[in-house]
Amino acid sequence: MKKYDYLIVGTGLFGSVFANQLTGKGKKCLAIDKRLNIAGNIYSREIEGVQVHMYGPHIFHTSDKEVWDYVRQFAEFNHFHYEPVANYKGELFNLPFNMNTFHQMWGVNTPEEAERELECQRKRFLAEHQGGYEPQNLEEQAIKLIGYDIYVKLIKGYTEKQWGRPCTELPAFIIRRLPVRLRYDNNYFNDPYQGIPVGGYTQMVEKMLSGVEVKLDCDYLADKEYYDSLAERIVYTGPIDAYFNYCYGSLEYRSLRFETEICDMDNYQGCAGMNFTDAETPYTRIVEHKHFEFGKGNTGRTVITKEYSSEWKQGDEPYYPVNDLKNQKLYTKYGQMADRETNVIFGGRLAEYKYYDMDKVIRRALDISKQFV
Ligand code: UDP
Repeated sequence: MKKYDYLIVGTGLFGSVFANQLTGKGKKCLAIDKRLNIAGNIYSREIEGVQVHMYGPHIFHTSDKEVWDYVRQFAEFNHFHYEPVANYKGELFNLPFNMNTFHQMWGVNTPEEAERELECQRKRFLAEHQGGYEPQNLEEQAIKLIGYDIYVKLIKGYTEKQWGRPCTELPAFIIRRLPVRLRYDNNYFNDPYQGIPVGGYTQMVEKMLSGVEVKLDCDYLADKEYYDSLAERIVYTGPIDAYFNYCYGSLEYRSLRFETEICDMDNYQGCAGMNFTDAETPYTRIVEHKHFEFGKGNTGRTVITKEYSSEWKQGDEPYYPVNDLKNQKLYTKYGQMADRETNVIFGGRLAEYKYYDMDKVIRRALDISKQFV
């Protein structure tokens, strides 16, 4: 009989939700994390009176009522809706692609005029591809969806900076994440439930982990045998290729670098997120954290973060899985190995090698944990 029922490796959302569910059913869980803080990439901490999203901005959004009810047990959510602005060489456009964007781009005022312009741009694309053609990559998908002008000014530069690859080599699904609307509506997400936890994400995860033993600064893979001896089952949320000692080679990720500054002014850019969609600006976006909390703490100071996307190499922080064909094939091999590990549950963005939104991670952790109680 081992000391714990479950060892949870990683205190991000998957691990914390899983630990919360199992602890609620009377299971004894130990959660460990390599970092000095809990909450994985949703970790936030207070600087200048506002919650700073330390690993990139996270806006909670979901259409899943059960997930929405679940998270609100741990935090009250404010009514923040993400309405980022795109900055193309000083020209500003609203995102996601909606009537405001079309008006700014083409001077059209009505949905009918916008539809006509979109149709015209799409026809050009279809003519070039002799009709009926299924987009094979992100560039083709973007042009088919939204036309050349928007592709060139708002998508190409940003996407190639973010992913470090030409749009012609990226999977089409990435761009289908963004809504296209014939309404004047700048809400970045279509989901009915949206907001940011009041008091920050870290506090929310802390509550999820109440009753769970937590140890930080613990490197599971460096001392796997010891940690495995502590619990009957392991929940592993780290990179799947690292778990198997990169035996088939390394999966690729994109990494990020953040430059956070405190500026001596109340309001730097007037919105939470500004995307720099040209190819020359070295960062992809600037986040001004106080706007997630509606300009809270106007004390003559504001915290901003410039986000730079970078190539990932072993040892760097992995952020976005590169879900192209080559990497998906490699992941499938690791996935098959994972299926054979009967005592280990693999879950979350890194262990499933998936471009996951927060609500989907929670849904997955709720579903999998149900199988174990
Ligand atoms: N994207 C873009 N221009 C923008 C914002 C997004 O071309 O101004 C593209 C880009 O390829 C990105 C994808 O849309 O990878 C998905 O964007 P999302 O905002 O969902 O990315 P995340 O929030 O996960 O960084």
